[in-house]
Amino acid sequence: MARAYVGAVTVVGLGLLGPLLTRLDLDAIAANTICFWLLAALALIGELFPITLPRESNVEEIGTSTTFGFAVLLAFGTAAAAIVFAAATIVADVLYGKRPFKVLFNVGQYTISVAAAGAVYEAIGGTADISPASLIPIFAAAAVLFLVNDVLTGVGLALARGEPIVRYLLADFWFQAGTAMALVAMSPVALIVADRSLLLVPLLAVPVIAAHWGATTSLENTRLVARLEYALEQEKILSRMKDDFVAVVSHELRTPLTSIQGYLKTLLQLGPGLGDEQGRSFLEAADRQGDRLRRLIEQLLAVAKLEAKVEPLQLSVVSLEEIADDVVLELTPSAHGHTFDLRFRPGLPLVETDDARVHQILSNLVENALKYSPPDTRVTIRGQERGGGVAIMVEDEGGGIPVAAQDHIFERFFQVDSSATRSVGGTGLGLYICKKTSEAIGGRVWLERSNREGTSFGLWLPWALSSPEAIAPAELIAPESVQEHAAALSR
Ligand code: ADP
Repeated sequence: MARAYVGAVTVVGLGLLGPLLTRLDLDAIAANTICFWLLAALALIGELFPITLPRESNVEEIGTSTTFGFAVLLAFGTAAAAIVFAAATIVADVLYGKRPFKVLFNVGQYTISVAAAGAVYEAIGGTADISPASLIPIFAAAAVLFLVNDVLTGVGLALARGEPIVRYLLADFWFQAGTAMALVAMSPVALIVADRSLLLVPLLAVPVIAAHWGATTSLENTRLVARLEYALEQEKILSRMKDDFVAVVSHELRTPLTSIQGYLKTLLQLGPGLGDEQGRSFLEAADRQGDRLRRLIEQLLAVAKLEAKVEPLQLSVVSLEEIADDVVLELTPSAHGHTFDLRFRPGLPLVETDDARVHQILSNLVENALKYSPPDTRVTIRGQERGGGVAIMVEDEGGGIPVAAQDHIFERFFQVDSSATRSVGGTGLGLYICKKTSEAIGGRVWLERSNREGTSFGLWLPWALSSPEAIAPAELIAPESVQEHAAALSR
């Protein structure tokens, strides 16, 4: 659709150029050659150096060639203006390396706009002599030039972006109209000045340059402010996360410590008064809490090491299935009723990697699967070849991660539920450790899918750290299905 439109505008515009040229008023140009070339040169400069204005989160380019091109139309007629606009846009577009179809489209679009503006100017009595009576024809022709040009470009852009055409055209209408009219309003001024002395015409470049300079400075300021605001926002988020983290860590460290002390104190006080069985169950409970405490401290140390990048890699050739088996074996005692399902493609080749780190990543992913899914559900671990390496998927049947949180779960200290009263322990460090550790061994972790039916995380590893594909190709391992599922969850 967009292509057909661009083609049609190009053909109509270029088709108009021929008949227009036959109407070129060479006598008028000959009578005032220097003025013509001066205006044409200024139109070219205007096309080469558009004014860049900050516009919400974007930038808008305003071509100042209109001022001088429109002045050519008023003084030398439509055909002369069409040539000036066409030549200026060809030179500027070619110098800026635009593609040929774009250059031809621009020429076509300018020609149609100029032809429409010229026709209106003549139809309502505009002449080459500027006088107060020319005010209405000038205003009408300028408005037509702007409108046709804006609509022709806007329709093309809306079609190319697949946006509703009318909404696209209206979105920027007043902003565009205001700046366009300001530039066009300078055209008769250019002619009146030229009538007095051609030497004065270049003076008109001063307000244009001033606007240029002002716009550039304000654009830089806007960008600077946006960068500062972003940095400040990041700083705030980090500081909030750190506060949360301190609160969580102190809570998490204190909870197991308090219960260990509770069990030990009871044992000391009651001693033999407790039966053998009860005494043993107290010791086992204290031992479990000790484990929890150790894990937390290990995670904090792991983060400290990762951030300091002090640990060298220990590479060896390993079977990922064996590592997954070990992880499952270790975590089975804490899997309250969960079942594990290991599905590795038979004959999956070995991988050269750091097995302790792979073990750590898989442990974290499987532990999360256990923590965030109800007991008596299944945790599946699959292994298969993918994109020059191996992908391991850890899938659970839990309630999923809220869509708004999905973009943040790999951030340091991020927790979906950071309240101290949450039912499962955690620090918000697990996935951050997974991410950093996988990067250290040339791999990547990602959220493959998360919805009400469950969550699936992926870990991709290259066959060997030194293999050419060792840096994970993002498009291979960050499938769009994440977005699809995110959208499904939000519905
Ligand atoms: P935590 O120590 O809190 O588990 P993680 O970094 O491991 O920290 O995970 C960050 C957050 O992502 C968790 O707070 C949790 O809410 C969410 N999350 C991680 N894995 C899962 C999962 N398998 N299912 C649901 N939510 C998960």
